[in-house]
Amino acid sequence: MNYHNFFEAALSRLQEEGNYRVFADLERHRGAFPQATNHGDKTRDVTIWCSNDYLGMGQHPDVIAAMHDALDQVGAGAGGTRNISGTTHNHVLLEAELADLHGKEAALLFTSGYVSNWAALGTLASKMPDCLVLSDALNHASMIEGIRHSKAERQIWRHNDVAHLEELLAAQPLDRPKLIAFESVYSMDGDISPMAEICDLAEKYNAMTYLDEVHAVGLYGPRGGGIAEREGLMHRIDVIEGTLGKAFGVMGGYIAASAAICDFVRSFASGFIFTTALPPAIAAGATASIKHLKTSQAERDAHQAKVADVRARLAAIGIPHIDNPSHIIPVMVGDPVKCKYLSDILMADYGIYIQPINYPTVPKGTERLRITPSPVHSQADIAHLVSALETLWAQCQLARMPMAAQ
Ligand code: PLP
Repeated sequence: MNYHNFFEAALSRLQEEGNYRVFADLERHRGAFPQATNHGDKTRDVTIWCSNDYLGMGQHPDVIAAMHDALDQVGAGAGGTRNISGTTHNHVLLEAELADLHGKEAALLFTSGYVSNWAALGTLASKMPDCLVLSDALNHASMIEGIRHSKAERQIWRHNDVAHLEELLAAQPLDRPKLIAFESVYSMDGDISPMAEICDLAEKYNAMTYLDEVHAVGLYGPRGGGIAEREGLMHRIDVIEGTLGKAFGVMGGYIAASAAICDFVRSFASGFIFTTALPPAIAAGATASIKHLKTSQAERDAHQAKVADVRARLAAIGIPHIDNPSHIIPVMVGDPVKCKYLSDILMADYGIYIQPINYPTVPKGTERLRITPSPVHSQADIAHLVSALETLWAQCQLARMPMAAQ
């Protein structure tokens, strides 16, 4: 094999399809998110409209101060895996904060949300004898990889289709171990799962529930515990998984569950055991962020208001977007090359950064610009975004949705 040609040919194919990923080289401005400098072809200031730092907590004074303090007090890295000197007091405090957030006995930290899904699902499904995993069709790659890695039998239920889930559950013996894996807010379409009905089925058919709340923690529920908190369902979910890297604005992932489940994953998951713990300053920043959002509703209220405003303005000019009940606004383009083109022009001509979302993140033909308004986008930012999209939609003769549709 000519290795070099193999790699080059694969990359050329991606480029021809319009699916080659180009990273924006951004430098965020402290205290001024969503403004950043793009160090790309032409260095210029841009407004970020696609960040998962949904509330701007990555710039919150409490978070930054906590990280500075921890850095000054205990230094940079954790110095080891959790088992070998890497468990610092900051990690212990953060796990207690997370357990409390979700009303669970315990929580367990991982280096990212991806790793937490991969390690927890992989471990639970592989260790429970003859476990069947029932996985929603649109689950995140990290969940899919964890389930695959477990080598447990897996059945996929149609996205959010509880009738299909019930059909699959009913076909199994009641005493067979079953794990229902699903998300609350699905990140690409922004739709929300029918959680209460899933919990009902889990009880009826004696299954465990594993819920990814990555796109909901910090954002929903009176203390930011996610959709399960908002719906009063946290106690009915066996394992709640989340990230510290999105609404909490820092980095890391976790599960919250019973003491026995957390201890089990802690004891058997290689993705937990054999990797260096998060730096203590990261844990301290995440703790400050969670603490703040437990008592402050202001960010959540302002977030929802900005999302509603952007949605209404896009609807008023017929820019096609998915009408969903969450904070994610997917503007549909339906073509990878056009999607990338729009993103490039927005950046170059308008100083607006919205990453194109192409295959394999979404199915081919559903390419989109995924807009994530935050409480820290100003009215001027919103007006500029909407007018840029209006101009581009006209220039490129892109399809519009009926303006009266919303
Ligand atoms: N779960 C979902 C649904 C996600 O969208 C992501 C995205 O990043 C993850 C898990 C992984 O979380 P993290 O970014 O913290 O690794």
